[in-house]
Amino acid sequence: MEKKIPVGILGATGMVGQHFVKFLQNHPWFELTWVGASDRSAGKKYAEATSWRLDGVMPPAVAALTVSDCKPGDAPKLVFSAMDASVATEIERAFAEAGHCVVSNSKNHRMEPDVPLLVPEINGDHLKIVPQQAKRGWKGCIVTNPNCSTVVLTMALAPFKPFGIRRVIVTTMQAISGAGYPGVASMDIMANVIPYIGGEEEKMQIETQKILGGCTEAGFAPLQAKVSAHCNRVPVVDGHTCAISVEIEQKPSRDEILASIAGFRGLPQERKLPSAPAQPVIYMDDPLRPQPRRDVERERGMAVFVGRLRECLVLDWKLVALGHNTVRGAAGAAVLNAELMYTEGMLA
Ligand code: NAP
Repeated sequence: MEKKIPVGILGATGMVGQHFVKFLQNHPWFELTWVGASDRSAGKKYAEATSWRLDGVMPPAVAALTVSDCKPGDAPKLVFSAMDASVATEIERAFAEAGHCVVSNSKNHRMEPDVPLLVPEINGDHLKIVPQQAKRGWKGCIVTNPNCSTVVLTMALAPFKPFGIRRVIVTTMQAISGAGYPGVASMDIMANVIPYIGGEEEKMQIETQKILGGCTEAGFAPLQAKVSAHCNRVPVVDGHTCAISVEIEQKPSRDEILASIAGFRGLPQERKLPSAPAQPVIYMDDPLRPQPRRDVERERGMAVFVGRLRECLVLDWKLVALGHNTVRGAAGAAVLNAELMYTEGMLA
């Protein structure tokens, strides 16, 4: 690409905003030229508006950017959103109405009937719903990525979809980085498990059905499978682990399931998108893997690692899955969505 596409971040000074800044560093197609946040930060240099809380140093070119108000106008056409959920609804809509393509990480619009909830390897075809937003009088659009544990679950389930998914039970072990900054108090999480994450179980249940479901120009047709989630916060820094049991219509052999996992590919791989992992779901034979500390950073955090596939005496099969919650579950997911949208001609 001769000239990179300018991009902005709404909510750039927050935790997920910083993950976007980091993930976009040296991106071959996109160049971060605009950062937006609340009026508490607007007018300040990015380096003055926020303390860098990720590994390494704040990219100097971004440190020097002046933070803008989150109002459409001078922002680039493509904006990633990491806005606080309490303000994302109206601000994201205002940007879409004004002609911006908002690629959002916030929960606010995910379940709307004309907003794609994308995992590009699974349901890139859901982008065809976007022209329906013409009905709202928007010149732009909103496209979302799922909740951080839903991405891990849906990627692990996608290779089962050809066999017909009937029922799913998932228990999560979710990292503390998923709770933002400063997140969960150390007195609560050290040497402990917290068996509740507000709203997370409901999100996993309905988002999974939307992502693994179908889509026509008339709308989304959620997967009819029932999904039941138990969500727990555990003392892990990065990486959400899901213990999954799944009931399927057909009765494939273990080898057929392993072949489906090994062969699973999607549009990002076909189109060689810059952030696409070569193999999106990687099976690990070692019964002690995957593990967050050992595996989460592999493949730039963009692949999902699965293991321990075995028969389930209640449903049909069970397995464990691991994914990077702030990369594949947040910034990396949104950037991959935007890469797919670019190849669909949606950012021109
Ligand atoms: P955060 O650290 O609190 O950051 C919120 C961002 O929103 C900041 O940049 C803040 O700007 C901005 N903001 C707040 N009020 C605003 C207003 N009135 N107008 C414009 N900007 C405003 O939150 P976060 O943890 O990064 O989460 C951001 C979003 O991502 C949330 O919707 C969250 O649910 C979702 N999410 C978070 C995680 C995670 O791991 N934390 C994972 C997945 C999804 P100031 O700095 O100026 O206040």
